Amino acid sequence: MAKFQPTSVGKLENDYDVVIIGSGGTGLSAAIQANELGMKVAVLEKEEELGGNTNRASSGMNAAETNVQLHHGVIDNVADFYHETYKDGGRLNDKDMLGYFVYHTAPAIDWLADHDIKLDDITITGGMSKKRTHRPASMAPIGGFLVKSLLEVVAQEDIPVFNKTKVTKLRRADDGRVNGVEVDADGITKVINAKAVILATGGFGASKEYIKRFRPDLESYKTTNQPGATGDGLKLAENVGAELMQMNLVQVHPTVQQDNPHVYLIGEAVRGEGAIMVNGEGKRFVNELNTRKICANAITALPEHSAYLIFDQGIRDHVKAIEFYDKVGLVVHGETIEDLAKQINVDPDNLKQTVTTWNQAVENHDDAEFGRTTGMDRGITKPGFFAIHIAPAIHYTMGGIHITPKTQVLDGNGDIIKGLFAAGEVAGGLHGNNRVGGNSIAETIVFGRQAGQQVALYARSL
Ligand SMILES: Cc1cc2nc3c(=O)[nH]c(=O)nc-3n(C[C@H](O)[C@H](O)[C@H](O)COP(=O)(O)OP(=O)(O)OC[C@H]3O[C@@H](n4cnc5c(N)ncnc54)[C@H](O)[C@@H]3O)c2cc1C
Repeated sequence: MAKFQPTSVGKLENDYDVVIIGSGGTGLSAAIQANELGMKVAVLEKEEELGGNTNRASSGMNAAETNVQLHHGVIDNVADFYHETYKDGGRLNDKDMLGYFVYHTAPAIDWLADHDIKLDDITITGGMSKKRTHRPASMAPIGGFLVKSLLEVVAQEDIPVFNKTKVTKLRRADDGRVNGVEVDADGITKVINAKAVILATGGFGASKEYIKRFRPDLESYKTTNQPGATGDGLKLAENVGAELMQMNLVQVHPTVQQDNPHVYLIGEAVRGEGAIMVNGEGKRFVNELNTRKICANAITALPEHSAYLIFDQGIRDHVKAIEFYDKVGLVVHGETIEDLAKQINVDPDNLKQTVTTWNQAVENHDDAEFGRTTGMDRGITKPGFFAIHIAPAIHYTMGGIHITPKTQVLDGNGDIIKGLFAAGEVAGGLHGNNRVGGNSIAETIVFGRQAGQQVALYARSL
């Protein structure tokens, strides 16, 4: 199918039922859902490129009790998904949000499949006991696939998506309801009226200002986020009295290649499919599939503050993104483990010993050193052998706008701000102090759809 063409700004109308701010997974699924419920919708995106951080997602989308899991022989249950996410989030997750979330991930996979967006393969991410990270059968990175596929649905349904259109203000009626937005549409200021507005503007991982305000200790860290992840939605919401929550909870991702000006996240699927991490001595130092928080802290505690991912051709065959990492020059190659060790300047005997011990652990399914129990489907045995140099970087902002599980935005008194809805990374509460890999893409579809349904209910009530 031809590349999606955004609607020209000249076609921006004065009135819509629903204005959706942001064209990531959240905004696009909200738009499709609301449109299918009979709403007249417009999606406004400030960047030229559509898709936000969603475009960058690599590993997959978590869901429990899906038919896809059963096809792969994985017997899961929603309660485990709830408890593991709650434990991994430091038990700071909003329980109502989490409850809604875990029960709506399997329907979200079905909803995508109904729209011919099939996530038929599964892998695993850190902190999860089961394979519940859904991805395309081709094992391609989820983000680009999802944005392209959602935009195909948007095109079929004729939903207008305007790029280079930045929302600068939320408008309110005399009774306090949010009833429109002000935009800068490619240099032209315009007012748009709407019965309801959905903030789907993503996080603030690329905002120096917000990081300095809420996490000054991370000011010098690089980020995996797209440049537009500047927390605009938080400002727009704060200006109409919304409450922000857990703003200091910022996720640092452990495996980010950052030796060049361009920063690349190395997806968790690489470890999920079997990679290990070694320090400057060529030794493992952590259970690589512990939570991101624990893995990132373990790397930061090393004298060199960085580590190497080590894997073989067998693992590479199960993570298509590695072909891309190699193409852009991030992957070091070795014909043997000793050869690889020399290329990355670690002691060859140590690395050989580390890999031999690890392969035995995989064979016996018993990692006596660090207690790893997942991502052990295959050892590091099949030539060639590979390494990627990684270190932690700012990745995800758990804090955000305080919402109800119905995506209604709350003010500082706990009252609903009528007409205003928020979902996706801009919202706080779902993930506690550590977002599990794969839960965010799931959040965009689950709560994007929820926002699309709730705006329709709200608009019908007016
Ligand atoms: C490198 C990387 C890899 C990741 N991998 C995974 C993964 O494998 N699995 C997983 O679950 N999660 C992953 N994540 C996290 C996940 O991709 C994001 O959290 C999620 O996609 C956010 O979706 P969203 O729709 O809420 O926001 P986004 O996709 O960021 O979309 C928000 C959009 O709103 C636009 N916008 C902002 N302000 C305005 C404004 N004022 N006016 C108009 N438009 C505006 C932005 O430009 C952006 O396009 C990854 C993130 C990154 C950065």
